[in-house]
Amino acid sequence: MIIGGGPAGNTAATYAARLGAQVTVVERDVVGGAAHLWDCIPSKAMIATGGAMSFTRRLHGMGLEQAPAEVDVDALTSRIRSIQDRLQHGTTRLLESQGVEMLHGSARLLGPHEVEVVTADGVRTLRPDAVLISTGSRPRIPEWCHPDGERILVTRDCYPPKVFPASVTVVGSGVTGVEFVHMFASFGAKVTLVVSRQQVLPSKDPEVAAVLEADFLNRGVSLLKGARAISIERVATGDSDDPGASAGTGDEVIVRCDDGRVVHSSHAVLAIGSVPNTDGLGLEEAGVVLDRGGYVTINRHCQSNLTHIYAAGDVSGKLPLSSVASMQGRKVAEHVMGLQKVAHRHLDYDKAASAIFTEPEIADVGLAEAEAFAVGRKIRVTKVPFSGTPKALINDDTRGFVKIISDPATGVVLGGSIVGRHAAELISVIALAVTANLKVTDIVESLLVHPALAEALAEAAE
Ligand SMILES: Cc1cc2nc3c(=O)[nH]c(=O)nc-3n(C[C@H](O)[C@H](O)[C@H](O)COP(=O)(O)OP(=O)(O)OC[C@H]3O[C@@H](n4cnc5c(N)ncnc54)[C@H](O)[C@@H]3O)c2cc1C
Repeated sequence: MIIGGGPAGNTAATYAARLGAQVTVVERDVVGGAAHLWDCIPSKAMIATGGAMSFTRRLHGMGLEQAPAEVDVDALTSRIRSIQDRLQHGTTRLLESQGVEMLHGSARLLGPHEVEVVTADGVRTLRPDAVLISTGSRPRIPEWCHPDGERILVTRDCYPPKVFPASVTVVGSGVTGVEFVHMFASFGAKVTLVVSRQQVLPSKDPEVAAVLEADFLNRGVSLLKGARAISIERVATGDSDDPGASAGTGDEVIVRCDDGRVVHSSHAVLAIGSVPNTDGLGLEEAGVVLDRGGYVTINRHCQSNLTHIYAAGDVSGKLPLSSVASMQGRKVAEHVMGLQKVAHRHLDYDKAASAIFTEPEIADVGLAEAEAFAVGRKIRVTKVPFSGTPKALINDDTRGFVKIISDPATGVVLGGSIVGRHAAELISVIALAVTANLKVTDIVESLLVHPALAEALAEAAE
């Protein structure tokens, strides 16, 4: 029995059914989950259109002349819907083809062995052998902020796009925050980013963050560093008692920071993390241990303290990535069906590749330089900028670099990061090397395409 049909739930369902289990998925919204409805898919679709738009501003460099494009909000909305429909249809068909029973409704535990499912047809009680909790997460909203869905927004309020803000203050400079900055800047908004530390993407390699910061500044984004937002309010223009309030018509949003700085904009977007959807599920009443953040505590098989109750995806408090959620779902299916005794590889979260869909793109995997230094581990770091790569010159985009981290004694690839065009695709090569314990020489000796951005990878490996 699977509660929640996002990437974790539907992958677990597909594999468990393939391995012979009788599977029921309960989903209260859409199959595909928040990943399809609110998070990965719409955000990347908007970023793709924004990227195409900003590309038209750079056509001159490609030897072309054309006026910059203008956005058609209705066309963009139907484009996003059609991508979501296709993906949802594909996922539903896959689950149906595996014989998975799908219930549209809400589920919760009545005890360690009973699940109540409420659908439009009534209430059912099921007694499955195993339960997977894959109910995902939702945006975190602090007590000092009251999103209204119009001017004070959480990320999910941004799609479908009703209007494009003239100016927007983004609070939170993690992955989601910087992607929204990039997206709004691409659509021509005046953007301010409130950065609580001294660096955007505080958990990333400073060299990587520096390239992104330079791009933001170049595009006119204001970076308010070392500032924590403490209030966000919407005021009718002219009502503000703040002498700095901008004149104009309609409402404006005022973001105040703990160091006294104040930002005025037409909209504000809150991107300060998420909280797990574990409330109201009857988990603690059934005896499932949650941590202080409300995430289900799991072991390496994704089992909770009750061994027949598993958790995967964002509720497990591991890496909040769709790719990780899917892989956890797959591992749960293998474990439930006893496959771990035969051909089961444990999930190594340290080897998960991740990307940030800004411009330039940022991607990394495995060991980071800072981590290695922190534990005194000897590493070899090689870095090759794209400025000398033929394909980057042809693309008229030489921003960024490839960095490979390897073991100096064995040459085994331990990690890497890529900043630049198609970084999210290119990182797959390093990710494969990290997962399969390949050596830098394995990359060097691969016969790669010319001209291709991957040549910078081979050069870094060399
Ligand atoms: C703006 C944004 C962009 C992102 N972009 C990316 C990206 O590009 N790449 C990436 O890898 N990750 C991305 N993520 C993270 C990714 O969306 C999540 O890690 C992923 O959705 C987690 O999958 P999941 O299966 O745990 O949960 P979800 O996708 O959240 O699905 C959980 C499902 O459970 C259902 N549910 C909840 N409670 C119940 C209940 N009681 N009964 C029945 N159903 C229930 C919900 O309706 C939902 O459909 C992004 C996140 C955000 C916020």
